[in-house]
Amino acid sequence: MAWAAKQIRRMPPPGPWVPVPAIALSRGVSAMDVAREDGLDLSVVIPVYNEEDNVAALHAQIRAALDALARPSEIVLVNDGSRDGTAAALDALAASDPGLTVVHLRRNFGQTAAMAAGFDLARGAVIVAMDGDLQNDPADISLLLAKLDEGYDVVSGWRRNRRDKWLTRLVPSRIANWLISSLTGVKLHDYGCSLKAYRREILRDVHLYGEMHRFIPALAHWAGGSVAEVAVSHRARTAGKSKYGLGRTTRVLLDLLTVKFLLSYSTKPIHVFGPPGLLAVLVGVGLGLYLTFVKLVEGYNIGHRPLLMLAVLLVLTGAQFITMGLLGEIQARTYYEATGRPPYAVRRIATSRTPQPQEAPHHHEG
Ligand code: UDP
Ligand code: MG
Repeated sequence: MAWAAKQIRRMPPPGPWVPVPAIALSRGVSAMDVAREDGLDLSVVIPVYNEEDNVAALHAQIRAALDALARPSEIVLVNDGSRDGTAAALDALAASDPGLTVVHLRRNFGQTAAMAAGFDLARGAVIVAMDGDLQNDPADISLLLAKLDEGYDVVSGWRRNRRDKWLTRLVPSRIANWLISSLTGVKLHDYGCSLKAYRREILRDVHLYGEMHRFIPALAHWAGGSVAEVAVSHRARTAGKSKYGLGRTTRVLLDLLTVKFLLSYSTKPIHVFGPPGLLAVLVGVGLGLYLTFVKLVEGYNIGHRPLLMLAVLLVLTGAQFITMGLLGEIQARTYYEATGRPPYAVRRIATSRTPQPQEAPHHHEG
């Protein structure tokens, strides 16, 4: 918890449990009213892929946890193209529970995409995600909500006593958590834990690709969200099989590279490629001038010198780096201007001017 505590001090929590634009509030609408436009406090979103032996127990446990909370809530189960009896089992559950929505994807799109599908459908002011294999305990949802109530935007579960294989899971996960924490600056013990709670508006600013669901806390932090961590329980898988092996580590590392780049440089790619490019060109030109001097003034042959090759290599790669940075700049402009997505995130706007309805800050979808 020491890590999380440090994080907490750096980012003061923004306020009430349910975040609303200040303009909406100034029109005499309470925070709860706005958040409840859809009538729900909470959505529990779960991707499932070939979990036929888990879904019934899963549903029963979440139902029990939500009933205990006694808040307006819903369950969204996303069937990620399962090829076993999961679809039929889910349909039967949906028929019996009006608070359950089941989304069947056309094929297996992967856990992250399935989660994104659930997030898009979820109507709650707060969204809780978790795994569908019962390794997470739905009873822990209340712990996450309590932490969120303290004013955080994202609360991440930390599987303190994780019940997974040591060599293929725990060791890579330790390294990955350390790497992700130091590169993104958001220090969490357990990025891989799917059990997390998000304020809905934070997810609206976060777009998920690849294996990126685990980076949501880092992406949310970029958008100015505050992130906290609570210890949750973890259970061994009792039914079905894990969908991942060691291969995921490579994909997570590559995604980390992407996230790091996007977070730090997506609006200024020339700042990444420019400096090494300039340095290479400078050194290359310097070497070239020296060789010219050797040839013209000292009269030696330079055609056989490795230094000549190095000079040529440096000038060429340097020029390519700079060009790459410029192309990146064009890409960045195309992206931000075509999507209308701003390179910033507004928490709230304060003004004593009476706002016109069309002035209310709106989110860019897409
Ligand atoms: N999952 C999914 N689509 C996939 C792979 C996994 O929806 O392509 C779901 C899976 O059913 C489970 C969650 O994602 O609910 C986590 O998967 P798993 O338990 O296999 O991962 P592990 O806990 O072993 O990391
Ligand atoms: Mg699992």
